[in-house]
Amino acid sequence: MNDTDFEPVTDADREIVAEQLGRPPRALRAVAARCPGGHPSVVQTSPRLEDGTPFPTLYYLTCPNLNSLVGGLEAHGVMREMSERLERDEDLADAYRRAHEKYLAERDAIDPLGHEVTAGGMPSRVKCLHVHLAHTLARGEGVNPFGDETLRLLHELGWPNGDCLARA
Ligand SMILES: [Zn+2]
Repeated sequence: MNDTDFEPVTDADREIVAEQLGRPPRALRAVAARCPGGHPSVVQTSPRLEDGTPFPTLYYLTCPNLNSLVGGLEAHGVMREMSERLERDEDLADAYRRAHEKYLAERDAIDPLGHEVTAGGMPSRVKCLHVHLAHTLARGEGVNPFGDETLRLLHELGWPNGDCLARA
């Protein structure tokens, strides 16, 4: 698996992502997912920034609306509950480990960082739902169980809505 299955980044995308982040995007490789309204929601980032600094987060959530909704879920203790389930549910733990392995394999195929740390707490903890949602949006459901759960929770909250739905 590599980045060739993502669309190339256009100048318009680059501009929108810069607006979303409030700074020029660094080491941008591809737009990995879009909101239904068309703006980029997830970017694929090079494992090393232009200056060589390692950047282990391969999929980065850029949509401000999604970032804010996910921040709300995190503030409501969703990650603690997920981490507790991870400790007692072997099937869930296996699925989560596979998500970690896929993430690492994709990143290593681009530029190996020489370690197995991925992102978001994988494979044994749940530390950032933004990372997991970005993984699910980039690779589809069935890859990262906590990204899938986060997406379902967002649907329950009414997402997609607002800018995420409207075509610019
Ligand atoms: Zn959006």
